[in-house]
Order: sequence, then structure tokens, then C-alpha cells
Amino acid sequence: MEILIVEDESEIAQLIQQTLERENFSCQIAADGLAALNAFEQQNPDVIILDLMLPGLDGLEVCTRIRQQNNLKDPYILMLTARGEEIDRVIGLSTGADDYLVKPFSPRELVARVRALLRRSLREVGQNSQIYRTKNFTLNLDQHIATRNEVTLDLTTLEFKLLETFMSYPGRVWSRTQLIDKLWGNDFFGDERVVDTHIRRLRKKIEPDTANPTFIKTVVGVGYKFEDASL
Ligand code: CA
Repeated sequence: MEILIVEDESEIAQLIQQTLERENFSCQIAADGLAALNAFEQQNPDVIILDLMLPGLDGLEVCTRIRQQNNLKDPYILMLTARGEEIDRVIGLSTGADDYLVKPFSPRELVARVRALLRRSLREVGQNSQIYRTKNFTLNLDQHIATRNEVTLDLTTLEFKLLETFMSYPGRVWSRTQLIDKLWGNDFFGDERVVDTHIRRLRKKIEPDTANPTFIKTVVGVGYKFEDASL
């Protein structure tokens, strides 16, 4: 697995590189947007960790240009942002990034996100049947059956779709707006807090303790994420 790290602050870039190399990923560093585009064309990496604030071409521009090319394999793009900075722009618009991480982040969190991206890629390539599995849950999309620890869950269509969205991408943080897009598409006009209502109902059906959720975690100020160990 080849990972390209695009970050102008060399200390951060090296920290990321060391973290990922400890996990046996092979990494290259590019210190600005143009270097990133060159490295992308030459090395065709599987994952690009892309800082938003870069001198010259910024992360969004780099992301757009990478998504516009058609000759090379599409990489997974994990965007890095500073806390509060531009975060709405990254998650609100369709930037072409697959996920984002807010600085400062722990090495453990970074590795978890990269692994989640790669799991997603394996699932898409390796399975014809539409089944998502994590340690405790199974979701069969063809048969529309969800189970937790082998016991079938009684979910509404909306709750199923919500769980499907979460399980399609364990560890990813979803904003309410993104969940609304997934659940209702673009025809939704209303209070985005409606998401919280459905999360509450889903938690009642899947969480051992709804006061202290194990699987659907609230990410304060952003939204929700689903966590369950992978198989
Ligand atoms: Ca930067």
C-alpha cells in the first residue's frame, strides 16, 4: 500500500510518516500542492493524506485536480484540517475527499482512519454479495436483514439505511447534513435535528446501554460516527 503525505509543515509530515511506517505502510512526502500532483502522477498512491492549508495550490484544489484525472487509479483522500478552520467547507461541500481528520489528532486515530479507507476498498473489490460485517453486526443489503450478535434487528427502512450508512464506513464522522443527504437525498427541507431523533431510535434497538453508547458515538460539534471492531 502506497501512501502520499501532503503537508507543508515538515514536523507534522514526518510524524505522520513515522506513524504509518511503523504500521508497515510505505510513505512519500510532498510539501506543496504541485509536488503532490507530480508525486500522484508518478507513484499512483492508494491513499493520499492531504493537508487543507498548503502554500500555492491548497488542499481543495489538489483534491479537485486529482479527481478530474481519468488515467490513473482513484486514490482515497483523507483531508487534514485545523480545528474549526474551514471544517464546514470540507464537510459541507462535495470536495471529493473520502474522509477528513481534524488537527491535532492522535497517531492511533490516523492509523484507524487509513485502515477504514483500505477496508472500504477491499470490500468494494472483493465482494459481489452486498453484505457488511463488523464484529457485532451484519447487514445483508440484498435481503434487507440486519443482525447484532446473530439476532435479527427489527429496524424501520430509515433505521436500516442509517445503519447501512454507518457500516459502509466505520470510524468516519458524519455531519447531520451528510446523513440527511444519505437518508432523504436533496429533497429534504426541515430541521436537521430530525437526524438526532432517528439516531435515538436506532440506539434503542442496537445499543446495550443507550446512556453510554458503544457503537454510535456522538462527535460533539460535528455529528456522529459508528464504531465496531472489524472482523
Ligand atoms: Ca499546512
